[in-house]
Amino acid sequence: MMPGFAKILTCPKCGAKKEVLGLVSGNTIVQTVWSDNKIITPLSQRVSFVQKCPACGHYYLLSRQKPEFSSNKSNEQGELNYIEMKEAWLLLRDMPDLTENEMLSLLIMQVWAFNDEYTRHNGKSAPKEEQAYITKIIDLLLNIDMVDDLLRAELLREAGRFDESLDLLSSYPFKNAYISKCKNYSLISNKRPFII
Ligand SMILES: [Zn+2]
Repeated sequence: MMPGFAKILTCPKCGAKKEVLGLVSGNTIVQTVWSDNKIITPLSQRVSFVQKCPACGHYYLLSRQKPEFSSNKSNEQGELNYIEMKEAWLLLRDMPDLTENEMLSLLIMQVWAFNDEYTRHNGKSAPKEEQAYITKIIDLLLNIDMVDDLLRAELLREAGRFDESLDLLSSYPFKNAYISKCKNYSLISNKRPFII
């Protein structure tokens, strides 16, 4: 990957600037796609949609930033961990003009961060309170119409609602390896995401 000129982000609270990975020329063919829709592309990283201000700790959205570039180069992606994503959601969910797309991103990124922390790479089991928390976040995602049926089935499975996930997939008109695997995981009550 060749990092290009850094993108400059401005904290809407304190005005502090932060440089992140800007224009990238890279190859997106080598990528890992997970069943929870998280895509990892080592040769073409993407900047996190939610950023944390290094000066004041405020959280803000890339979608609200004006385009501004620096002559420096940066590899910073600003990816947030699970605790930070939860803090970001608490802060940003009440923004009066939050769009459905922005809400969808804030919610699904919490599921990804939860999976990164607990289920994606190891067999750690999440503490009960975190499991309960992410189940509520998944409920909010399931209320959003633009979540398609396959992601819906995956989220139901990850929330432990295996019968509902199986029902949805059984009514789906197509069959493929991904659907079979999602069904098989439900049948053995496995909530972990998998690589597609
Ligand atoms: Zn700030």
